[in-house]
Amino acid sequence: MTRIGFIGVGTMGLPMATNLVKKGFTVTAYDVNAEALKAATSAGMAAAASAAEAVTGADIVVTMLPSSPHVEQVYGGDGGIINAARRGTLCIDMSTIDPAASRRVAAAAAERGVRFVDAPVSGGTPRAIDGTLAIMVGASAEDFQAAKPALDAMGANVIHVGPVGSGEVAKLCNNLIAGVAAVAVSEAFRIAEGFGVDSKVVTDVIAKSSGNTWVMENMHPVPGLVPRAASTNGYAPGFMTDLMCKDVGLAVDAARNLRIPLFVAPAAQQVYRLASSHGLARKDFTSVYTFLKPSAGTAPV
Ligand code: NAD
Repeated sequence: MTRIGFIGVGTMGLPMATNLVKKGFTVTAYDVNAEALKAATSAGMAAAASAAEAVTGADIVVTMLPSSPHVEQVYGGDGGIINAARRGTLCIDMSTIDPAASRRVAAAAAERGVRFVDAPVSGGTPRAIDGTLAIMVGASAEDFQAAKPALDAMGANVIHVGPVGSGEVAKLCNNLIAGVAAVAVSEAFRIAEGFGVDSKVVTDVIAKSSGNTWVMENMHPVPGLVPRAASTNGYAPGFMTDLMCKDVGLAVDAARNLRIPLFVAPAAQQVYRLASSHGLARKDFTSVYTFLKPSAGTAPV
């Protein structure tokens, strides 16, 4: 039976690891948050006292952490995964991070004979729970095949994008679009409301028109229109504003390094940053809609 050390059992990691348990993998979890670790044990996982303990004896390591510094810290250093894992262990980082960071960790892992692939996900918590995530993988052909059974337990569309780091590149491209779309949908529905037109009817129209987007259909920012959307549940994440701010920021940084001009993504990034600093940091990113309220000014300008 394949033994998996799973580090980071938060919003996404917990349902993903739970699906591994359901499909017959033996999972040992670790998280710095004691509450998260408790939930993991309730879902049938063993709890470890550190990342190093979770990966000792594991065949596969999965990490689902917030951002690049977390991943570099958990893999590197004396108590890190790379030191603790056996030679030949396959590490699958499913966090959304800077592709350059993935490549740095992969190189450090390779020096110690540890394999590393990046496999970020898309689909949010509903699809994490259902085990139907889209998973985009940066790996050698051999490592991709080795990772596939575990990835198939968590996702429905597991796509080999290219060498290490490529999965993160695909993910940044996707989240640039999703992040911009959520701001655009929020702006559009504020306008519909301003005219007093029913948001439900506008949604039905757009769903059949050229403005249709996955964000509107599945994560509608206006509460009450999509039952599983975070907006309908008080904007409980879902996908936190701070994480979307990070992802759009990764795309903006990448474009700067590649000397590609960007206009829309940086604007969306500032919307998320401002929303974050006004109390929405840990709410779902679609809560930007609540932030784009009409102003109390007297006259249009
Ligand atoms: P989260 O903050 O809910 O979960 C991250 C977990 O990592 C937390 O439980 C945290 O305690 C733990 N953690 C942080 N540092 C740690 C450390 N040093 N050692 C062990 N555990 C540590 O975030 P999330 O929403 O689950 O997102 C995780 C990643 O997945 C992010 O990169 C995010 O961008 C990406 N992602 C999230 C979604 C979503 O809908 N939430 C969708 C796609 C991708």
